[in-house]
Order: sequence, then C-alpha cells, then structure tokens
Amino acid sequence: MLLSHRIRIEATTAQRDYFARAAGTARRVWNWALAEWQRQATMGQRPNAMALKKQFNAIKYAHPNWLDVQGQPWLRTIHRDAHAQPFAHLARAWARYFDARRAGQPAHPPRFKRKGRCRDSFYCANDKFRIEGKSAVLPKVGRVLLAEALRFRGKIMGANVAREAGHWFLAVQVDVPDQPAPRRLGNGVVGVDLGVSAAATLSTGEKIAAPRPLKATLRRLRIRTRRQSRKIEAAKQAAGIAGPIPKGRRLARSVNEVKGARSLARLHARIARVRADFTHKLTTDLCRDHRALAIEDLHVKGMLANTRLARSIADVGFYEIRRQLQYKALRYGTVIVLADRWYPSSKLCSACGLRNGSLTLGERTWTCACGASHDRDVNAAINLMRLATGALAAHAALPEASSAATPGAAAGTLPAAGGEVTPVRHEHGHQDGSGQEKNAARLCARF
Ligand SMILES: [Zn+2]
Repeated sequence: MLLSHRIRIEATTAQRDYFARAAGTARRVWNWALAEWQRQATMGQRPNAMALKKQFNAIKYAHPNWLDVQGQPWLRTIHRDAHAQPFAHLARAWARYFDARRAGQPAHPPRFKRKGRCRDSFYCANDKFRIEGKSAVLPKVGRVLLAEALRFRGKIMGANVAREAGHWFLAVQVDVPDQPAPRRLGNGVVGVDLGVSAAATLSTGEKIAAPRPLKATLRRLRIRTRRQSRKIEAAKQAAGIAGPIPKGRRLARSVNEVKGARSLARLHARIARVRADFTHKLTTDLCRDHRALAIEDLHVKGMLANTRLARSIADVGFYEIRRQLQYKALRYGTVIVLADRWYPSSKLCSACGLRNGSLTLGERTWTCACGASHDRDVNAAINLMRLATGALAAHAALPEASSAATPGAAAGTLPAAGGEVTPVRHEHGHQDGSGQEKNAARLCARF
C-alpha cells in the first residue's frame, strides 16, 4: 500500500530560494509542454509525453528562452527531476481528462499554471535523495532539517517538495508492506454513527466531538477575506476597471495585499491541519481498537447539496473519515462493514426492532412504543453494530457469498437491511494524508 508522509521542512533562506526556483522551473516546463501539446494537437498530430520530453531536452540548454542574462542555461542549476517530471504529470492529466469525459463525468483539460496562483511543487525521484532521521539530503540543496522523522517503514518511492502557506513540505511516498501491520489493540465490534452534533457516536455510547475548525475561525476568516477583497477592489479602482477583471490583465499588488494574502492562507492552512489531525487520530483509534466496525455508506455529495447543513458536514470531513477508515482498516486487519445507504439506522428501535417512521432530523431523543428511550445517535450506532455482528457471522458461514446475506441481526422482523461485508479494497495509488498515524495512548481529541 502506498502511504505518504508529509513532513515540514525547516528550510534556510538559501534552501527556500532553491525550492522556489525549482518549483518555478517545474511550472514553466509544464506550461511549455502544455502549449506544445496543444499546438501539436491542433495540427492533427498525436502528442505524447516521451516525444515532448525528447524535444525539450534538445532545446533546454540552447534555446534563448532557457538561457539567463549571461547566456548560460539556468536549468543546469536546478536538479533534473524538477524539469523532467512535468511531462509525466501532463500525460497523466490528459489521460484522466479523457477517461472522465469518456465516462460522462465532468472534466476539464489541463490548464496553464500561473505564478502565485498555482501550487508550487517539484518532484524528486527515490534514488536522488535519502532520509536520515530528522533530516533529508536532497539533490543540489544538500541536507535539510525536517520537523519529524519518517514514520512509515517500507520502500521509498519518491518525494514531492511543495509549498503551503509559506512553509515547504516534503511528502515522501512509501510502499508499506500490507501484511506486517501495526498491532491491533482490541477485538470488539463497534457501530459508528457519523454526525454533525458529535462527529462520531459509538455503539458503546461514547460520543466524540469534532473540533469543527471552520466554525471556530469563521469570524476571523471573514474578516481577513473581506480585508483582502477591499484591497483588490482598491487596486481595480486605481487601474480604472469596473466589473470583473478582464482575462489576462494583471493588477499591481501592494505590499499589504501580499501580506494579507499570506495571513489568509495561513488561516486556511491551520483550519485544514486541525481537521486533518482530528480525522487521523479518530480513524486510527477506531481501526486499531476494533475487529470490525460498521459505518453508514453516506452519500456525502448529496448531503453537501443541503445548503443549510453543508458547511457543518464539510467541516467534520465525512468523506475523508471514511477514506481513512478504509485504508487504515487494511493495515490493522479490521473489517469495515458498510451499511446500505437506505438502511434506517436512526429509525429502528435497538431494543425491539420497531421502525419509527415519523422520526425527524431535529429529534435528538425519542421513546419507542416498547418503552425504550433512545439517544438518536447512540441508537443508530447500536443498530450499525448489530448489522456488523450479523454480517460477520454470515460472512464466516458463507465465505463466498457474503453480500447475499441479509443481516438484520437485531430482530428477525427488521426490514431487509442489506448490510454488506466489504472486503476493503487494496487502495493503491492514493498519495494524500499527512501520514499522521498516532502511536501514543488513546486520546481522541475532544474539543
Ligand atoms: Zn422499541
């Protein structure tokens, strides 16, 4: 399984300068390759990345566009990987675009990158750098200090250096062997109800609140965003533009605008970090402490269409929680049971199995006709846990035909629940995540 650990680089000024130049080189090569690709395509040729790279190699040390003021080829000062990789990236971007279009999904072709508007990053192949404890030795820059040591053991596949809100990060891709997984600490089965008021409610009754970083900083975010927009409006007025800025027109940026943009970016980065920290700790805890866990197969995209709840839902990060559960389950040997999207986990009474059809979203507690009073989320989590227990039993009895089972385990009278044991897929090729896998004792952050 490919895991990626993103580590902050404690870069010196000289190192930051090199990183910026390398990322600028990668951007410029990307733009050259994209322009050339488009030119060849309009002439009816079939451009490909390998041929483009060859074409570029022929000119990169000679063509006046790639020489500095002294007539020296400045690409020689940047490591080769930074200007070779954009071709592979471009080929992949086109392939993804055509695949999506063929599948009828929304897609846009690769775009030109613009300084200050795009992500600054460059690639480094695995044979060109090494990691030694809390430092890395990168080509052309030498030793850089890292904020922490690499956490994953396995074959290093490559690395990306990228800038986020003024800091440079080294994201190392590691091919971690599937089998010798980290030790699991518990063997229970648990149902997990994901929600907005508590990010996760367990069938044990435990409620884990999410930090909801966006909600907490929304006021500051609004202030900083408004300040930024005022500066842009002022710059537009100074340039005599009314309405939207014409395409290709660049406004002069004041020093204060640059500063404001930086502080806004820092705030956004902080929000993302708080959220990522929470989801990583939560999902690691859940997978490490249980033999099986059941979650609802939430339709996150559909839920985000609800404009009144969208911000809260996005702030918890349901989709990411589920994605992390699925790949961490592989590492800990935990089974994830996905309850059918239409399984009425909140509406079934976990004591008698009766369905409360009139339950609304606003009702946090309810009392069943049988006399049992329920906390809405705990009740849902217990139903999910039963589903998992039933699915596991059915799975053990019928190793082949797992999804045919109808494990409405709580009571025989439940409507067809359609619980499904998902043999969690081998998630190859995902490259995201900061690699935070917590090793310390259980401390699911409660804010
Ligand atoms: Zn009941």
